[in-house]
Amino acid sequence: MSWIHQKTACDEGFSHHVSNLLGLQSPRDERSGKARNNRKLEAGKEFSTAEVYRSRISKAESFGEVWEIVKDTVKDSLGEHRVGMMLFLDDLPLHLGAYHPLGTNNIVLNRTLVQIVEVATKSKRLVNGFVYSLLVHEYLHALGHIPEAEVRSLVYKISRECFGEDHIVTSLAEKSPWALLRGIPLRGIEAPRRAMEIVKDFEKPNQRYIV
Ligand SMILES: [Zn+2]
Repeated sequence: MSWIHQKTACDEGFSHHVSNLLGLQSPRDERSGKARNNRKLEAGKEFSTAEVYRSRISKAESFGEVWEIVKDTVKDSLGEHRVGMMLFLDDLPLHLGAYHPLGTNNIVLNRTLVQIVEVATKSKRLVNGFVYSLLVHEYLHALGHIPEAEVRSLVYKISRECFGEDHIVTSLAEKSPWALLRGIPLRGIEAPRRAMEIVKDFEKPNQRYIV
């Protein structure tokens, strides 16, 4: 099945992200976060939910580890989850971060764009935050949230509840993942088109990521 042609409306959505860079209003959800106030006891010390998620996103070493954070934050914030997703990497046009072909278990992430962020920021925390923002958006589509405005609003709500107001993930949700690329002349970048690849060990249902 040629699912690469069955995109969701993310093209459009990420055009919105780009227009956010031009100063348009981004979605806000003013309801107070329940996840933010949960506290977990670890090694005799209390950590807030935000502290735990901030630590995890800073330390994540793979797409699979970022994905575990995506699933946990959505579960914490919305109580929704889905297993069995697969991640593919492909070299897509630079205005498109990722997409979920409706009716599949697949998310396709723009490999070129992630590599540009890696080179531009040289920060694992920022790259992970960027990847988190793209993946959580597509995961919400996969959970059945189709309208772009609804997804963007939910990404902001989840980010704020789980990472706190003053974290890069929340900032990217409020502005746009493309805010990280501000000042980089994307139009001048000529990236080679490589074969699509599947990310191995993306989802490990029996193996929890331990902080
Ligand atoms: Zn979308």
